[in-house]
Amino acid sequence: SKESGNGPGWLFFSPAMHDRIVERVRLECELRRALEQDELRVYYQPRVVLGAGIIGMEALVRWEHPTQGLIPPADFIPLAEETGLIVPLGEHVLRQACLQTRAWQESGFHNLRLAVNLSARQFQDPHLCDLIGAVLTETGLPAEWLELEITESTVMNDLETTVHTLERLKQLGVHISIDDFGTGHSSLSYLKRFPLDTLKIDRSFVRDIANDADDAAIAGMVITLAHALNLEVIAEGVETHEQAAFLRDQSCSVMQGYLFSPPVPNDQFEALLADRRWTMAG
Ligand code: C2E
Ligand code: MG
Ligand code: MG
Ligand code: MG
Repeated sequence: SKESGNGPGWLFFSPAMHDRIVERVRLECELRRALEQDELRVYYQPRVVLGAGIIGMEALVRWEHPTQGLIPPADFIPLAEETGLIVPLGEHVLRQACLQTRAWQESGFHNLRLAVNLSARQFQDPHLCDLIGAVLTETGLPAEWLELEITESTVMNDLETTVHTLERLKQLGVHISIDDFGTGHSSLSYLKRFPLDTLKIDRSFVRDIANDADDAAIAGMVITLAHALNLEVIAEGVETHEQAAFLRDQSCSVMQGYLFSPPVPNDQFEALLADRRWTMAG
């Protein structure tokens, strides 16, 4: 018959592919278990204004695997996205981070804004706006202190649906930022059509900002564009004083990066908040 024998179907399914599929299925099971067993940890990376201190933070998930240690998001977010597990995972991160931010606000850090990443699959989920509204009500975090980070490829997917979703999110009162700005395929005209608040300059442009004229030009263009459109601008991946000074001179005052701190767990973030040195930074 067609099914047996050495047809192309058999050749297609190589031992290497078999291994990959087995590995994927294993990882997917483990990730489901991780959600059930509460192995996902939310880390926080401060957003800093030179001279003013910490104004907020980005929530970044890690997987505290019982035997493999801390697994970075790059190793499991893509699979979570493919399998749809990103929806419950994202809900978990959102709830944890909103709850934690509210607690920090109530302990005296009133003006902390929380940024949470949303993947394309989450953004397309028809229950997204209801979920965000429910989590804000449940945790008591006022909507104005929540920012959702989405990428250019997410918003460029289906323009009509994007406009509709963004408008519903804006009605809730949350902020919207475009993450990794400048790396995706996007038309500048959408900046006019979409109700956005913030552009995040991708760290690939920040890296050589002080030495590479092209990167400096791109970063400068994004900053000018943001200002002209009345958007906030944030630089990510700031690692050196030189980069920070350059950005400050270009009127980009909000920065994130290892120069200030890597993403850290709750208790270490509290130590950063308590450290008065931050208000002196720069
Ligand atoms: P992203 O949203 O662009 O986050 C910034 C990434 O850059 C983070 O990597 C952060 O640790 C890293 N970073 C920050 N400052 C520096 C720096 O100065 N130098 C360098 N080299 N890197 C820096 P991380 O935490 O590994 O996250 C990677 C990506 O995974 C994120 O990129 C985001 O797309 C995704 N991700 C993380 N957490 C979540 C989540 O809860 N939900 C969703 N949907 N995606 C997430
Ligand atoms: Mg982000
Ligand atoms: Mg980013
Ligand atoms: Mg990125």
